[in-house]
Amino acid sequence: IVRMQKLNKHFGSLHVLKNIDLEVVPGEVVVIIGASGSGKSTLIRCINGLEEFQDGHIVVDGHSLVPHGKSAKALQRIRTEVGMVFQQFNLFPHLSVRDNITLAPLKVRGLERAQATQSAERLLDRVGIRDQADKYPSQLSGGQQQRVALARALAMEPRLMLFDEPTSALDPEMIGEVLDAMRELAREGMTMIIVTHEMGFAREVADRVIYIHQGEIAEEAPPERIFDDPQDERTRGFLARVL
Ligand code: ATP
Ligand code: MG
Repeated sequence: IVRMQKLNKHFGSLHVLKNIDLEVVPGEVVVIIGASGSGKSTLIRCINGLEEFQDGHIVVDGHSLVPHGKSAKALQRIRTEVGMVFQQFNLFPHLSVRDNITLAPLKVRGLERAQATQSAERLLDRVGIRDQADKYPSQLSGGQQQRVALARALAMEPRLMLFDEPTSALDPEMIGEVLDAMRELAREGMTMIIVTHEMGFAREVADRVIYIHQGEIAEEAPPERIFDDPQDERTRGFLARVL
């Protein structure tokens, strides 16, 4: 569902992503790990066109992204088919939980309100906060807000979900509830690309773990291999510091 070939990205003189080749198949859960500043966020932001790149090629669900952002049409399609959850929840503060979730389906997908509302209720149930639909984001805990953000992304029935450190802004006691919702999603077969520092979670849900070092894929392997028997010196160094 994603094929990235020889992707290169620079921020001015900084070469942030170096010859990245990445392929993700439907139903796969890929976890990206790496030190701060290694390019993890930039990499996944390229997949839904939030970042331009200078060189290389990305195909997402049959839509092709080319360098320098010259792919307006593909971008539009990709953004309706790819959901993203960020570290910051980015909910609309002036909208209720229910309206946060129904907004895009109503506007972009052209659903009937009754249908959108019904689907929102179902999604809230699925992420375990059915009783919060009438509240505003500021009235929820961080963990609840992040689950609303997840429900909002799922409301568009995405073919692929991107997560950029979805639990990093949460108090420790709320991390579990968000990871549980993501685990459930993985079990249902959603294709997911996840940047996280939660190594236990990565080991458990990932089909494949990618270690990025200074903008390069240093190593990729199934979680058991990466965590128990890393082949690359740099992966070993990183894991020694974080585990
Ligand atoms: P973290 O774990 O801290 O989130 P990361 O692996 O997600 O780090 P990126 O955010 O992708 O790292 O950043 C990679 C590099 O690109 C960093 O050196 C960062 O300073 C730089 N960078 C990111 N965004 C920009 C930008 N908009 N302009 C210039 N440089 C940027
Ligand atoms: Mg980041």
